[in-house]
Amino acid sequence: VIAQTTDAIRAHELDRAHVFHSWSAQQLIDPMVVTRAEGAYLWDGQENKFLDFTSQLVFTNLGHQHPRIVRAIQDQAAKLCTIAPAFANDARSEAARLIASHTPGDLDHVFFTNGGADANEHAVRMARLHTGRHKVLSTYRSYHGGTQLAVNMTGDPRRWPSDHGSTGTVHFFGPFLYRSPFHATTEEDECQRALEHLEQVIAFEGPQTIAALILESIPGTAGIMIPPPGYLKGVRELCDRHGIVLIADEVMAGFGRTGTWFAIEHGDVVPDLLTFAKGVNSGYVPLGGVAISDAIYSTFAERAYPGGLTYSGHPLACAAAVATIRVMEEDGVVEHSARLGEEVYGPALRDLADKHEWIGDVRGIGSFWAIELVSDRQTREPLAPYGGSSPQMNAILAAAKGRGLLPFANFNRIHVVPPINIAESDARIGLSMLDDALADASFAQV
Ligand code: PLP
Repeated sequence: VIAQTTDAIRAHELDRAHVFHSWSAQQLIDPMVVTRAEGAYLWDGQENKFLDFTSQLVFTNLGHQHPRIVRAIQDQAAKLCTIAPAFANDARSEAARLIASHTPGDLDHVFFTNGGADANEHAVRMARLHTGRHKVLSTYRSYHGGTQLAVNMTGDPRRWPSDHGSTGTVHFFGPFLYRSPFHATTEEDECQRALEHLEQVIAFEGPQTIAALILESIPGTAGIMIPPPGYLKGVRELCDRHGIVLIADEVMAGFGRTGTWFAIEHGDVVPDLLTFAKGVNSGYVPLGGVAISDAIYSTFAERAYPGGLTYSGHPLACAAAVATIRVMEEDGVVEHSARLGEEVYGPALRDLADKHEWIGDVRGIGSFWAIELVSDRQTREPLAPYGGSSPQMNAILAAAKGRGLLPFANFNRIHVVPPINIAESDARIGLSMLDDALADASFAQV
């Protein structure tokens, strides 16, 4: 074991004294000091090397320190670090053009935010003003961000402490065949029953009160459940029938994560608003936004949009987005992500499921995969309860880290979400570390 450097020790001490961390009991955490990172790898304060199968919070889509993104930020910093949103600026204009060139349909106007939660807040504000209605429908198995409205739209337990029922949010169940809320055993039935359920929720809430329906095109943190064929088309049709604005939250699934530029493309649907963040610039500088359809844009053509941010379209963040999107285009990163899903992650994770009793389900697409761990394959009893952890899950995560792999875990699931431009050889190394970690942990249980 290499002793920690003085800098690493100091960073840890000051963190413990002064940094207040997200979603944490402050005294019960022990953050790893990261001293450097490159591509899919990072190093802790003791020079231990880790392969990052999390892309941090699923945002370093092009890995760490990509030279072209770093250079774009440096060049922009030397030229013009910042300028207020009311001015036009080449980095911002080009980022908006590039984003619009990849969003589906007529989503050609971009409102920039600082991240995903505020993108969703603004998307709902636009929908409310466009429709003159108030309510928002969202799914229970979802995460839409940590601000007030966004966390209320969120379905997962992070909503509970902040849910005062004042934001007009109503939840419904999306399709999830492995744990079907509708007792379905086929994708067709799951799709049809999920749509019938949604139709009833709309009817009982009063269609004329519903401004928007927001969903993750493929739910991410909630478990990477790919909607069955026809589901998103059915949702689109219900929204059209009732004049409800459809918002696709592509904050996690967008920008190549699922092997297409946007995950909604798998459902062959065009939403009215599409929110993004994370992968738009690999998270090098905070950036999010809303891509807006012509119809909603028209609502604000001669009427002021009542919203804004000091840093909307920050030049450093936009320069990073321009470089990220160009690298993705020129290096065929989206195609690479799709191929890894088909040829590497899918087959390898299914092989793991054959070997390890704990794996109850494997699902995913592109570079967006989850394995669902269960204590019993027949009953599908989760290896950790909804909203919690368990000694077995902790043992697997510790074993993974012990082998040099950083895993993304949520309740009873491990998500395999490495940088989407990872070399195939590194992807295979990580999968074999995961294999070993599952074996280590199950031996330790015996
Ligand atoms: N929407 C989705 C689907 C997300 O996964 C996240 C973050 O994980 C958010 C919204 C919130 O984004 P941010 O943390 O940038 O506010």
